[in-house]
Amino acid sequence: MKLRPAGRVVVIGSVNVDRILRCPVLPSPGETVLVTDATQGFGGKGANQAVAAARMGATTRLVAKVGADADGRAALDDLRGADVDTGAVLTDAAAPTGQAVVMVDPAGENSIVVVPGANTRLTAAEVTAALTAARLLPRDVVLTSGEVAEECIRATAAALPADGTLWLHNAAPAGPLPDTRSTGRRPLVVANALEACQLTGASTVTDAVRALADLTDGAVITLGGAGALVAADGRITELPAPAVTAVDTTGAGDVFCGALAAELARSTPLVEAAAVAVAAGAFAVTALGARGALPRPADI
Ligand code: ATP
Repeated sequence: MKLRPAGRVVVIGSVNVDRILRCPVLPSPGETVLVTDATQGFGGKGANQAVAAARMGATTRLVAKVGADADGRAALDDLRGADVDTGAVLTDAAAPTGQAVVMVDPAGENSIVVVPGANTRLTAAEVTAALTAARLLPRDVVLTSGEVAEECIRATAAALPADGTLWLHNAAPAGPLPDTRSTGRRPLVVANALEACQLTGASTVTDAVRALADLTDGAVITLGGAGALVAADGRITELPAPAVTAVDTTGAGDVFCGALAAELARSTPLVEAAAVAVAAGAFAVTALGARGALPRPADI
């Protein structure tokens, strides 16, 4: 039997450099706290999702923007090292590379300050140009998130070929779903339980998943250690997560989305693809940091 080549994953999203400060206590207003442990890592929802998809074996391209600075160059090197195609990551001298300052106390409680910087300068015209240049095919998967400006999400929907090319939208952080009615395209939405309830106004996850499925081309709701729910074609399927010792859940949602996109690009049916994403998310929580444990297909 001749195997059909897998599609590509194209992520439209953010790139950040994270400064992680381990504090004895989180500073109160007006307080100065001395930190003995300061490390740097790479993050941004788009970059995390792209790295996770590439690690799961998908040919992955990122559409994003960084500043013309040392952080931007380091983030690009990191992405290339993770096998992400950075040909559509633009550089903008007018803003710094996005950064997140993450303060963590000994109990794991955190306070985060984000400077979106160059991420906010990605325009709809640039997204359209990047997706046109990508020459999307029906088996490709495009992934957006709530960190992307609505005009860029509308440009994404408008640039999708009419016949196929799956569009996955991660509704995180929670916000109204992009209004793409004029393009005739609706995304398959991934949201965690809280985001799903906020988006739909529902008070229970079951109601939220049904409401979200009505508004979209299908909904996948992540439930932390309880796994995920998939609502598609009039059916809701529960996918329990394997029991693991959770060390740090930061970025589990990004790994879930990257793995789901990679699996869908292999033409795996939605419920099976989501089961792989649940296992990938469970793997991700077993180590510290948003990218502490990124699964390869063999780990699943
Ligand atoms: P985050 O914002 O921390 O990145 P999220 O809120 O977007 O995560 P979650 O629902 O917490 O997403 O987790 C995504 C997936 O990760 C879950 O569907 C599950 O597969 C896996 N996961 C998360 N927490 C656990 C856990 N404690 N045990 C096993 N799997 C987990």
